[in-house]
Amino acid sequence: MKNDLNLRLPPVLISIIGVIHLIVTLGCASNATRAPRAPSEPARIDACGFDTSGVKAFLAIADELMRNQEPSEQAWATLEDTPGYAALLKEEFPRHHFRQAFRVALMPSKEAELRAALESGTIRYLDHYVRARDHLENIRRAEAGMTTSNGCAVPLAVKAADEYLPAPSQPREPPPVAMVIFGPDGRGYAPIVVDTLFAQEMRADALTRFLGHEFHHFYRNLLTPRLRPKCVDGADAEILWALNQLQAEGVADQVNVRTDLEAGGPLPNHLRAYLSWMGETPSRLERLQSLVLDASHAGSAPDDLRRAIREVLPRSGHPNGYYMARLVLEVLGKERLVAHVGNPIAFVRDYQEAARSRRGPRTEFVFSEQFEGYLKRLEALIDSCRDREEQR
Ligand SMILES: [Zn+2]
Repeated sequence: MKNDLNLRLPPVLISIIGVIHLIVTLGCASNATRAPRAPSEPARIDACGFDTSGVKAFLAIADELMRNQEPSEQAWATLEDTPGYAALLKEEFPRHHFRQAFRVALMPSKEAELRAALESGTIRYLDHYVRARDHLENIRRAEAGMTTSNGCAVPLAVKAADEYLPAPSQPREPPPVAMVIFGPDGRGYAPIVVDTLFAQEMRADALTRFLGHEFHHFYRNLLTPRLRPKCVDGADAEILWALNQLQAEGVADQVNVRTDLEAGGPLPNHLRAYLSWMGETPSRLERLQSLVLDASHAGSAPDDLRRAIREVLPRSGHPNGYYMARLVLEVLGKERLVAHVGNPIAFVRDYQEAARSRRGPRTEFVFSEQFEGYLKRLEALIDSCRDREEQR
């Protein structure tokens, strides 16, 4: 099953997305101005297999900042070199982010600056860092290991992730997990990054499903090797990013969000917005189609296209991807959904097939022939790109 995936598209897809992620979406922090680093501290692994060195480094920094003292360059460097913070800085956050945000959130002398920044919303996740400041003792307890506070969720999380992945030839090893303080969330990078405060406040079953979602990303990324930049670029890269997000998040959300949506009872705020965006999927896909066709005919500027795509697909594709995955699941079955994990173009074609054959009161949006023609061209571009990669 896994090899079938590699016959056509997948070898390039995830890797391109990784590259796009770095180059296009996240603004690329430069390493040029970094001071030389002392060797990083060895990872601290708890009994559950989680690396807690990021939490330890955060607490050391927090203790200094709470006394209104500037941590040493060595302390900052130690934090930034822990596996979790290093992954966040490499993939997503600008180099100065944690230094600036932790100073503002934790130094008593910066109270006025903190209030202004909270009001203006200029520092991402700042309110979470304030909560971390107010719960340092809890974080200190968690730093001793996630095992003591939540039980070891890893084996169950691997099982949860497995449910929506092609069967492996051998049982999957648990991925590396790095605990840090970064925001109320996790990331499916390598290592998986999990916010300690966020995880600590979850019920055990919710934590298992949350980890399962992130593990799903990790294993999906392993299905294919990474590609060099510039393989697919410009508008095509933006469109591929969107299609990949729809599949990656849409399927991973089956691992955790599905349970929350189907649990009944009142929904938390963030899921109410999710549900309403999800209900708009037919019209949102129609708008996505217009963007794609305009870009392929007139050649939209990638920056404009990127902005427009993010407006059409809120929350990086989660709710609309969920809708598409759900339709494939209901109409074509789980085997089909799972067989194409890692291949977003096949995912869109599966959605198309399911939408066409859906009978019932609801009308599904079906992409046009021109859109299908674009998909074919994108697929051919990716194939030729992959062939060039293989010849290297
Ligand atoms: Zn995700």
